[in-house]
Amino acid sequence: MIKIDKTGKRPTILIKQGADKGKDKLLIETEKLKKDYLSNPAAYKTGKKKFSSDIYAHEDIKPALIEIQNGKCCFCESRITHITYGDVEHFRPKKAWTTISNRKYNYPGYYWLAYDWDNLFLSCQLCNQRYKRNMFPLVDESKRTFDHTCNLDDEEPLFVHPEKLAPEDHITFEGAFIKVKDGSLKGEATIKSLDLERIELYETRNEIYQLIEKLIKVYKLIPDIVPESVATKIEVRDELRKVLKPEYQYLNMIRANFGKEIQKILDDAI
Ligand SMILES: [Zn+2]
Repeated sequence: MIKIDKTGKRPTILIKQGADKGKDKLLIETEKLKKDYLSNPAAYKTGKKKFSSDIYAHEDIKPALIEIQNGKCCFCESRITHITYGDVEHFRPKKAWTTISNRKYNYPGYYWLAYDWDNLFLSCQLCNQRYKRNMFPLVDESKRTFDHTCNLDDEEPLFVHPEKLAPEDHITFEGAFIKVKDGSLKGEATIKSLDLERIELYETRNEIYQLIEKLIKVYKLIPDIVPESVATKIEVRDELRKVLKPEYQYLNMIRANFGKEIQKILDDAI
């Protein structure tokens, strides 16, 4: 996981026809949900309310998330868009929520955030559909927000928020192994609940780890005394520069293991 910055990148989805023409669809639909809940709470409290993917996964929303997140999952940092469409994930679940220990659905979910840009992220299908699903534990369950009239700031999510927190303060790596940073409860809950230790992720991270380790070794072995070897050394350094770019997969792992070392190499005067 790395920090995602959506600042100033909110897509404006304008309503094309009717009385609300030209108005922001996400804001209008959010207001409609709040009013609808007050007039018909039973639909939300029984899970019968349907939310429209045409709105939260609108043709303008998903490409914006893909661009912001460089096509990577907000949780596992795997590149999604090369092989699949990816999901628009609601950090706070829209329909119902569960805790880690009790998977019983609790209604209503965070219905008023179903179309809220700040609550939407791009996620791979495994992280979203197999692991996170409707899970949304809090640090203190007694502070849970139950409807849109409550103050959302009172509750503190137990999962690492991909935009509000710095994931590297909670999740770190030793080699390709994912680890909780400094005993962080949020890091632990996120790693365990989303199974960020899963073998497939480890294997892909490890391939990248091994490759970078070799590149660094080769860089250090190349002497910089003749022009030919200097040119090769610069080529290797350019490869190392690439792995610190935000579009590179598993950047949190790369930074945790090699960040300082690669930076030193990039600062080399050769
Ligand atoms: Zn994922």
